[in-house]
Amino acid sequence: MTDDAEHRRLVIAGSGIAGLTAAIYAARSNNDPLVLEGPEPGGQLTLTTDVANYPGFPDGIGGPELINEMKAQAEQFGTEIDHGVVEDVQPGKPHRIELGDGTVYTADAFIAASGASARTLGVPGEDELMGYGVSTCATCDGAFFKGEDMLVVGGGDAACEEAAFLTKFADTVYIVHRREEFRAEDYWVDRIRELESEGEIEVLTNTELLEIFGSAENGIGAVELARNPAGYPKDNLDDPDTERFEMDVGAVFMAIGHTPNTGYLEGTDVELDEAGYIETVGESGGGQTETGVAGVFGAGDVVDHHYQQAITAGGMGCKAAIDADGYLEDLERTEETADAPAADD
Ligand code: NAP
Repeated sequence: MTDDAEHRRLVIAGSGIAGLTAAIYAARSNNDPLVLEGPEPGGQLTLTTDVANYPGFPDGIGGPELINEMKAQAEQFGTEIDHGVVEDVQPGKPHRIELGDGTVYTADAFIAASGASARTLGVPGEDELMGYGVSTCATCDGAFFKGEDMLVVGGGDAACEEAAFLTKFADTVYIVHRREEFRAEDYWVDRIRELESEGEIEVLTNTELLEIFGSAENGIGAVELARNPAGYPKDNLDDPDTERFEMDVGAVFMAIGHTPNTGYLEGTDVELDEAGYIETVGESGGGQTETGVAGVFGAGDVVDHHYQQAITAGGMGCKAAIDADGYLEDLERTEETADAPAADD
């Protein structure tokens, strides 16, 4: 343990919907939470336009607005929110939490709610042109490419939502998906088909992106794609049915899912699955957000690779705060018992 570390009752890593919901509950239970906002303050909802399926908002609510309201609610009950990228966590009694700038906290309980970050493809040109035409956030960057043809990679809800959003700016939006069937929910597939019939979107199924051409000075000029009627063309580049072709586009948006931000737990006794998601050990009763390490809890996209909705992340944040509260009360009782003078009968 570091001598100059500041001690806190509860530290929550992440200020997305899971972290903020945990903070609201924890603050109301007098657990004085400190929320550490990482490199993407407010989490993925701040990159969304309208959230139409969050209960209680029949007309929808903007993602950033929803997050700001939650922050205000958490602070109103006494949550402290500070910027800090968690680099390393050493679980123990207390847990030791080290930030990127060298700051060290110790904490009785820790909730990992640090969300997930956008995945990339690893194709040539992607890294060099990230920020110069390649983006993982249509909401953030779409307007920079007004009037250009744009390409969105992916077949899930995010790809469809981003493609629909980009029609505001693009000449044509091309969705490139590696197989025939979309993963996205029916609502989004219907919306995409509607925009396709209006000439706003073109869907390229069974197609994958092979390379992005351009420069930091001039942005993206073109991309190379491969198509195979059986899907997954990249795995079948030598197949005579695979066709390789180039297309001129001005921007490429990656919407191929996310990777959980749990690197700071690697090497600890908190179990991670092979994709990096935290394995919680709780079952159907209380303690569902417990990890294998006492006093360390997981909530939101660091745990959930299935539902990944704002409302489910919020629900898990709430559970984590309640689980942490139970743990902290037990800890206090144990410490009080240990400190009590022995009875001298
Ligand atoms: P996702 O559902 O995991 O979809 C990722 C898509 O990217 C899939 O279609 C996948 O193809 C494709 N993909 C993954 N790796 C690829 C690769 N290496 N090359 C080419 N394609 C690749 O991720 P998401 O769309 O980000 O959604 C995540 C969660 O957030 C979901 O639960 C979703 O419902 C939710 N979400 C909801 C909304 C909304 O309701 N408004 C908006 C955004 C996200 P395959 O299908 O072939 O695997």
